[in-house]
Amino acid sequence: MTPVASQRYFDQAADLIHLSDELRQLLSTPQRELTLQVPLTLDDGTHRVYSGYRVQHNRARGPYKGGVRFHPAADLAKTRSLAALMTWKTALVDIPFGGAKGGIQVDPSELSVTEMERLTRRFTEALGPAIGVYRDIPAPDMNTNPRVMAWMMDQYSIMETYSPAVVTGKPVELGGAPGRDSATGRGAVDVLESHLNFDGRPLAGSRVVIQGFGNVGSWMARTLVDRGAHVIALSDVSGGIYREQGLDIDALSAHTAQGGLLADLDGIEGDGITNAELIELECDVLAPAALGDVITIDNVDRVKAGVILEAANGPTTPDADEVLWDRRVAVIPDILANAGGVTGSYFEWTQNIQQFSWSEDRFNQELGERLSRAYDKTRAMADEHSVKLRTGAFALGVERVASAVTLLGHR
Ligand code: NAD
Repeated sequence: MTPVASQRYFDQAADLIHLSDELRQLLSTPQRELTLQVPLTLDDGTHRVYSGYRVQHNRARGPYKGGVRFHPAADLAKTRSLAALMTWKTALVDIPFGGAKGGIQVDPSELSVTEMERLTRRFTEALGPAIGVYRDIPAPDMNTNPRVMAWMMDQYSIMETYSPAVVTGKPVELGGAPGRDSATGRGAVDVLESHLNFDGRPLAGSRVVIQGFGNVGSWMARTLVDRGAHVIALSDVSGGIYREQGLDIDALSAHTAQGGLLADLDGIEGDGITNAELIELECDVLAPAALGDVITIDNVDRVKAGVILEAANGPTTPDADEVLWDRRVAVIPDILANAGGVTGSYFEWTQNIQQFSWSEDRFNQELGERLSRAYDKTRAMADEHSVKLRTGAFALGVERVASAVTLLGHR
């Protein structure tokens, strides 16, 4: 989501709840921004210096929480708006965290595994006392994964003391939680099911189109099929596949698990389509789970889905969002649709602190309950004020944070 979009959604929510000017000002700016020098010695002995960031937006409801991305386009402005989004998201799902985001401006595809490890450890050193189990808890984001989290956790533990709860999204062998890997995709389906059921419609039998077959898209597809829905089209960066009767998700997963792309399918039933065609397919639910800005003013008039499930961050541009609202196409906003990820991170953190592991069944059950509560509250807020689900979701998040800030004496 662009900084302009996130500010617009914040402003709409602030208007709805009649937020005071003082609180608007306080919540529109982050509490702390760090720009860090991250030097790296390459494998060939030469040196580079990268810029690292951590923006801590608000901690009125609990320690700062948010991902770390390694990306050439990472910068302070984007990190700042993503940190604010995390504040509203953690408040919306009512978990005891604030919001933060961080990253390094780097193209990780240019680095070897050993260079990535050294870079991650230097970044963690540079963050130093700014992070901590009850201070700020990073997590994976674009181009960071459980392995990167393991290095961060280890480096922090070397500097301080053994602290598995300082990051989430770790490998299960090192304190990660069974269920965390699937939590974003599964949670998106939980939210979708709440939405459909609220309107008296079953998830089973729904025809769903998914863009993206990575972590989120693949878990969504599997969960949908388990619950009786039909995934009729799927895509990845190479293109997509369409089959009106439903796709064989197990066969597709087996293909991509070997590193295969959807454009190179052989022997799997379905017709090839482009990513542009996929967005415009006739279906009950369109679930973008890859990139931002894929439903825009240029293609929104050709979108035929009845429900948009924003599993990716910022897949709908604000002007396309207005068109969908005018047409009364339901958009389940990213802040709610993909909140299963941070909710799962919260479960991992609590298990680490208690040094007690939950079963995966318990993890999934608590995830579903928490997300369906968040949906119901969002729906009630949106219906009461006749506003979009997005405005309702932002308003709930902003209202909860504003209330905590007020109770703390405007801190
Ligand atoms: P991923 O890297 O595992 O998968 C991304 C998928 O998108 C891949 O299938 C890739 O081929 C596809 N893709 C890339 N470029 C594309 C293009 N131009 N057109 C079509 N498809 C393309 O990423 P992920 O973790 O599944 O995340 C997907 C989205 O969900 C991102 O927007 C991310 O910010 C958001 N999200 C992820 C999590 C999480 O826990 N993983 C949590 C919250 C939000």
